[in-house]
Amino acid sequence: MIDETHDPKRVSWVASANGHVDFPLQNLPLGVFSPPGNNVPDAKARGGMAIGDKIFDLKAALAAGLFSGEAETAAKAASGGSLNRLMALGSAPRRALRRQVFDLLASDGTNTAKARNLAGGILHDANVCAMQVPAQVASFTDFFAGIHHATNGGRRRNPNDPLGPNYKYVPVAYHSRASSLQVSGQPIRRPSGQRKLPEENAPTYGPCRKLDYELEVAIWLGPGNRQGEPIPIAEAAEHIVGLGFVNDWSARDIQQWESAPLGPFLGKSFGSTVSPWIVTMEALAPFRVAQPRRPAGDPRPLDYLWDEADQRRGAFDIALEALVLTEKMRAAGQPPHRMSRSGTLDLYWTIAQMVAHQTCNGCNIEPGDLFGTGTISGPTPEGWGSLSELSQDGQKSNTLPSGESRTFLEDGDEAIFRARASRAGYVSIGFGECRGRVAAA
Ligand code: CA
Repeated sequence: MIDETHDPKRVSWVASANGHVDFPLQNLPLGVFSPPGNNVPDAKARGGMAIGDKIFDLKAALAAGLFSGEAETAAKAASGGSLNRLMALGSAPRRALRRQVFDLLASDGTNTAKARNLAGGILHDANVCAMQVPAQVASFTDFFAGIHHATNGGRRRNPNDPLGPNYKYVPVAYHSRASSLQVSGQPIRRPSGQRKLPEENAPTYGPCRKLDYELEVAIWLGPGNRQGEPIPIAEAAEHIVGLGFVNDWSARDIQQWESAPLGPFLGKSFGSTVSPWIVTMEALAPFRVAQPRRPAGDPRPLDYLWDEADQRRGAFDIALEALVLTEKMRAAGQPPHRMSRSGTLDLYWTIAQMVAHQTCNGCNIEPGDLFGTGTISGPTPEGWGSLSELSQDGQKSNTLPSGESRTFLEDGDEAIFRARASRAGYVSIGFGECRGRVAAA
């Protein structure tokens, strides 16, 4: 639904928002932050919205009486230390909140003067606030919908049939670990575990030697369904709050040894990084597009995964980048090096299909649940969204501008993800960065 909050002519009195690469007035993503001087997690954490290089404080704005009606209900639900209660409300209060915040922060809103007078209390400099994971995540499902990534991985195992017989029928996924989610900026400790390289005769316990990142889009969910009651695909949109990033850190040597026959476990569960801001479905409305047509010969999805409206408007056109910054590059003041460019049109399944599939057996989704899309790789090497693909599982070294080479991540390396949604006639928006630096085991 396109409304006044997408009008490209509207600008904000928060000067840094105008032309901001990620957070112009038309974005207003949701997150949880602690104001300056506090540690995370702490009692002062509350919901906010990014606007330029500031954070709009929903709790302070609520206390100042700036909201009414459904928006007030939403602001109350977003005033605590997580966004779960807001996610439980569904889309209407969230949209109402967006419209009222837009009106407050626009240069020409009906309540602009009221907000500007309170600017000192309702805006914080983002760079002195501490962000946290935006919801308490009960369940984290990691899909495998990036078809080029699935093909690249499968080719090493089975060159003749890399995707296997089920891939084009089933949105394949596994249950990942919610307890070890962390927010962008926190270091990720190199995991130790039982690992065995193909050329070794026996496993040993020790630090991971094939540490990788996976470029994935995060899908934040709510309100969800009651156990036993599937969400039909036509109703899935009501249960999708917004998008961000997941870096599904992967210890390939641990993963490759442990995964048969049951799938990923300790090779993934040591930590996953999410970006702090949830870019809402409302903000993303201009960037919705048709799901790319399936190649000739691919099966039509089963009826519970098929919805004409979802095929017409259920995909997103969002460009994605994965970058790496090494310790040496950091010391030399060099910028991060882009390893890949891909996009959300490289996904074989829509987000609504993932919701319909996750719940088709009656499994319940709860407010604050998280999906990862699976690694999003493009069709050619320039688009490969993990180092295992770029290095062909360690066989091929990648040279960086610093002269260093990489197969997998070394201690001190930082993985950085960026996103950009653009369309003629609209203001471009982004997700904000997702960063994580590898710390020694
Ligand atoms: Ca993954």
